[in-house]
Amino acid sequence: MADTLQTRVCGIHIRFDGATPLRHRAPHAKSAAVETETMDGMERDEIAVIGGGPAGLAAAEVLSAAGWPVAVYEAMPTVARKFLLAGKSGLNITHSEPFSRFAERFGTASARLRPPLEAFTPDDVRHWAAGLGIETFVGTSGRVFPTAMKASPLLRAWLRRLEAQGAKVHTRHRWVGFDGDAVVFETPQGRKSLSCRAVLLALGGASWPRLGSDAAWVEHLRERGVPVRPFRPANCGFDLAWSDGFVERFAGQPLKGVTATSDAGTFPGEFVVSRHGIEGSLVYAHAAALRDRIEAEGTATLVLDLAPGREATRIARDLARQGTKESFANRLRKGAGLAGVKAGLLRELVPDASRSAPDALTRTIKALPLPLLRPRPIAEAISSAGGIDWVGVDDGLMIKAMPGVFAAGEMLDWEAPTGGYLLTACLATGRAAARGIMQRLKDTR
Ligand SMILES: Cc1cc2nc3c(=O)[nH]c(=O)nc-3n(C[C@H](O)[C@H](O)[C@H](O)COP(=O)(O)OP(=O)(O)OC[C@H]3O[C@@H](n4cnc5c(N)ncnc54)[C@H](O)[C@@H]3O)c2cc1C
Repeated sequence: MADTLQTRVCGIHIRFDGATPLRHRAPHAKSAAVETETMDGMERDEIAVIGGGPAGLAAAEVLSAAGWPVAVYEAMPTVARKFLLAGKSGLNITHSEPFSRFAERFGTASARLRPPLEAFTPDDVRHWAAGLGIETFVGTSGRVFPTAMKASPLLRAWLRRLEAQGAKVHTRHRWVGFDGDAVVFETPQGRKSLSCRAVLLALGGASWPRLGSDAAWVEHLRERGVPVRPFRPANCGFDLAWSDGFVERFAGQPLKGVTATSDAGTFPGEFVVSRHGIEGSLVYAHAAALRDRIEAEGTATLVLDLAPGREATRIARDLARQGTKESFANRLRKGAGLAGVKAGLLRELVPDASRSAPDALTRTIKALPLPLLRPRPIAEAISSAGGIDWVGVDDGLMIKAMPGVFAAGEMLDWEAPTGGYLLTACLATGRAAARGIMQRLKDTR
């Protein structure tokens, strides 16, 4: 940001010392190069990383490893809350599929994300974790997890590394915008502003705002002419008009061993019946396509094959063999292998299915349409689509309308399915923005 050698912050005159990384100076030069002046206890830092999620921490790691003085400013009392929550379901940190496939998972943003991902590939993610003492394994689906299936040991080791490299972390510092070139924070001690040589915004998207990423930054950037695309839920559940009886009986139950078809394609997997509708990995795999169709047409349908392992001809034949005196539940169980929540779903969505002839019933079992009303609110979504438009950032991830201010992670406009793609892209863009910052500091020296 401030390319001048001197600047005035909060009435304190602060001298900047060129663009030489700290580590490359004589040890005794540190105190001279980095002013010991403080602003109400906050030291001046040359590079401010705002947002202590995976993207911000990844950037701080690269910058501090290269010897730059860097501080992370985080609004919440602790960093990386969403990362820790991701750990509750095992922390799917990356994916083992071939890189060419992996790099295509980001839809229209794939081309812009490719260079950051090439520089920090899924293999690099695994090596990086191993370097922090965290071994990983490839699950049956190709997803990669830490062996401990949680995030806290990795985060602890990561923060220790940052500390050892000299990066500082200031929690309870909520960034509330700019005052000229200075970044302004609300802290328990009051409002503080800070001028620095470069700023990285890594403030996250709009899902799970109670963990810190509340997208309050959008207005601050729009005011400065930064193009920001509206946030929408991604990897989210959907509402359906369940009957009370169905909810009472089946809410919380998983549907395993089904395939689902939407504009996104046909995938096997499982999902869960919720009180409001449906959620879970198979739904998330279709979520972007379903959301887009609802936005375009007001409605969308997810089509289920409840018995993907059985040929339609066999189901029709086995159903036809059931005696007319058998109950519908028995006919479904014996003829099609359907019971419990699968049978309940069929009855819920096609109330007169029991009167269908075997051929027609088979067609329903093999292609049961789930009429979706709307995506669940973004506050419940795993991630968000939308954010800073790619036309607004350069290849070094600097925001074009704000020279010296960079952006990384979920605040950029990309989305991807679950499967480790989200964290990998956050780490990769955080690291890419750090390289962009270092390049700019060299160029503007
Ligand atoms: C339930 C759940 C499970 C998930 N599981 C996985 C998974 O297994 N694999 C996977 O790849 N992804 C997973 N994700 C997604 C992944 O956690 C996110 O994509 C990732 O955390 C985004 O990283 P980020 O650094 O861009 O933003 P965030 O992690 O959201 O971090 C942004 C940080 O900025 C801080 N901040 C926001 N505003 C301000 C401000 N004004 N001032 C200062 N600080 C501010 C926030 O408090 C936060 O700490 C999951 C998400 C959820 C919700």
